[in-house]
Amino acid sequence: MHPALASTLSAVDPEIAELIALEEVRQRDKVRLIASENYVSGAVLAATGSILTNKYSEGYAGKRYYEGQQYVDRIETLAIDRAKAVFGAEHVNVQPYSGSPANLAIYFAFLKPGDTVMGMALPAGGHLTHGWGVSITGSYFKAVQYGVREDTHRVDMDAVRELARKERPKLMFAGGTAIPRTIEWAAYAEIAKEVGAIFAADMAHISGLVAGGAHPSPIPYADVVSTTTHKTLRGPRGGMLLCTAAHAKAIDRAVFPGLQGGPHDHTTAGLAVALREAQQESFKTYAHGIVANSRALAAAMIEHGFTLITGGSDNHLILADLTTKDVSGKIGAKALDAAGMELNYNSIPFDKRKPFDPSGIRIGTAAVTSRGMGAPEMKQIAAWMARAIAAPADAALHATIAGEVRELCAKFPAPGLLI
Ligand SMILES: *Cc1c(COP(=O)(O)O)cnc(C)c1O
Repeated sequence: MHPALASTLSAVDPEIAELIALEEVRQRDKVRLIASENYVSGAVLAATGSILTNKYSEGYAGKRYYEGQQYVDRIETLAIDRAKAVFGAEHVNVQPYSGSPANLAIYFAFLKPGDTVMGMALPAGGHLTHGWGVSITGSYFKAVQYGVREDTHRVDMDAVRELARKERPKLMFAGGTAIPRTIEWAAYAEIAKEVGAIFAADMAHISGLVAGGAHPSPIPYADVVSTTTHKTLRGPRGGMLLCTAAHAKAIDRAVFPGLQGGPHDHTTAGLAVALREAQQESFKTYAHGIVANSRALAAAMIEHGFTLITGGSDNHLILADLTTKDVSGKIGAKALDAAGMELNYNSIPFDKRKPFDPSGIRIGTAAVTSRGMGAPEMKQIAAWMARAIAAPADAALHATIAGEVRELCAKFPAPGLLI
């Protein structure tokens, strides 16, 4: 936080100031392997924490319901133009509050309650909002779900086609939260076209890779693309929808007034800054660095006896099955957290354990790449992981490793942190 703002905050609310300061230290000292997290730049933080939070601007640039939009209109237009340039999209809406509301807007734009949506099942690596039962998308709509093959743990496109032909969904999602491999957008698009479905590509996890040219773009294939703005894209917390000109009106109406009130203008400004950063040459290096690090970490983990779902990684994400290490995902994740490496426990395809204590852990390399770590550090991290997991109850060992982790982190200052 900016020192001047930090002193204001601690004067007004020392409790919250203290907790934020502690969290900043935690973010500094830990190896952050949570696949959905990252470190935004100081510039993104500055825009997001700005006086724009004071403004209301329901509507769209040039068509607002409130006055005083002289600067907000320019900010939102800049964010949109930059998103169009980065992703090559015909139309962009930067107002969704986050990834889940962005997906909900797609349903509202194209479906009526009870219509059929097809998406990847959550336990196979999909997202809640792609029709999973506990989500509004699985209870207000008829959801049919595809998974992965039991032998390869990859999506079986023949099975997807068969299901689509049988169920004739109106909307079809591709993408997910625990997919370690390249997503074949063109194959989904072909199936959606055949059955007359709207094809929605959810690139929430990988939009930074797409922006940097390290993963194929869904834009040429999808009717609408949704994304979060805060994962690999490295912007503020938010969501974004990109679509063809033909769907522009439906998408805009679904977001506002369909689903939301005023957009979060401070977030829009932060997003505009992140998208400017994504246009720099250094962002390409970052995006390709994420993939190189994921491959290096996967290879090193395999050397240390870890079992990886699909046997490796093409993107930023690794899904490991800890069954062969004789610990559950939750126990493994807690041991790693104690040893200074934060990640999340995760279901693996065909998991025999329950979701609250599944067999796997999910690992992402975006945040460590943002810190400038590379192949030697990935090797070191894999070695620490193996040591910590081999002795899941050894608090002294975990504390020792956490100290070594802290020393490594000190050599790679995280963007945006002032300590
Ligand atoms: C993270 C994610 C979302 C939801 O984003 P939130 O900002 O957490 O609401 C949606 N879809 C996918 C594939 C995601 O990974």
